[in-house]
Amino acid sequence: MLSLIVKAGGPGSFVVWQTIFNRLMPELTVIDWHDKTADLASIDYAFVWQPEPGRLAQMPRLKAILSVAAGVDHILTDPDLPANLPVIRMGGEDTAAQMQDYVRWAVFSLLREAPRWHSAQHKQIWARQGVPPVRLSSETPVGIMGLGALGSAVAQSLVQAGFPVVGWSQHKKSYDHITSYAGTAELETFLRSCSILVCLLPETSLTRGIITCDVLKQLQKPAGLINVGRGRLVVTSDLLRALDDGTLHNAVLDVFEHEPLPAESPLWSHPGVLITPHVASEASRTARAGYVVGVIRAFERGEDVPLRYDPQKGY
Ligand code: NDP
Repeated sequence: MLSLIVKAGGPGSFVVWQTIFNRLMPELTVIDWHDKTADLASIDYAFVWQPEPGRLAQMPRLKAILSVAAGVDHILTDPDLPANLPVIRMGGEDTAAQMQDYVRWAVFSLLREAPRWHSAQHKQIWARQGVPPVRLSSETPVGIMGLGALGSAVAQSLVQAGFPVVGWSQHKKSYDHITSYAGTAELETFLRSCSILVCLLPETSLTRGIITCDVLKQLQKPAGLINVGRGRLVVTSDLLRALDDGTLHNAVLDVFEHEPLPAESPLWSHPGVLITPHVASEASRTARAGYVVGVIRAFERGEDVPLRYDPQKGY
């Protein structure tokens, strides 16, 4: 009998997960992370979001840790994380499709000045002055920082929507109609070739704080930023400075250095900014449970599992 311990969502959500897992994989015993009487020595897999440090180390039979989200930074902060244990990122078609929809919405929102109109609407101001002339999608190059599982899906959907698209990653990629740049040597060329920058990098020691005022200065004007990667990729003080001095015309932000975004943050009321509360891609519970079951079955068959965190690469 295989067992899975679950820490995903607020109080009451365990029963919902348990019902879904029971339907998809009846032979799996599903255990609540918050059950103080749970026999931790019997657990094979953990499906978690922000596990309390040290708890996973108390599960000697654990074969893999599955992240509730595509990022695994919330797991890696555990200093007692058992070494060499596979950590698997959330994936699946729904996760990519949701990110494609969100980024398309965000790109069109920046292109058509949604932050300004939204801010003016709240003040009941009918003002058309002071915004740049309307651009077409075909004349607005979009740069995707992080051309991985999600970034490449997003890039392709923006190509379909008619945008010129460039991408940047560690290694060069080959996708139809997408110019690919790689590594620090090509970062400047990449930045200079786009006007809206979409950040879909993971947070690692190399990417933390990568988006500075100097980076934003290199974008074609009017410049826009969409951050759906992680909040700490951006230096918040630089972002505010760039928005205030016009280096950056507008932004859609889904992730923040501190979440929830503190009430005193000037980003809340900035007329150039649209804020969403880390919702860009959150596949349904059924889709995520289906992905988890697929990973467990592959593991049990001894197959390689995609989206496995690589400690050498840091993502
Ligand atoms: P992947 O690991 O598949 O892709 C990461 C990409 O970043 C790869 O293209 C990789 O390059 C590139 N990369 C990593 N480090 C560097 C670096 N130092 N320099 C240049 N490129 C680098 O991740 P996903 O696409 O699945 O997810 C990306 C991130 O999106 C997640 O880590 C998470 O933080 C965020 N996310 C946010 C969500 C939200 O709701 N806001 C939901 C889901 C994910 P290469 O391909 O060459 O290895």
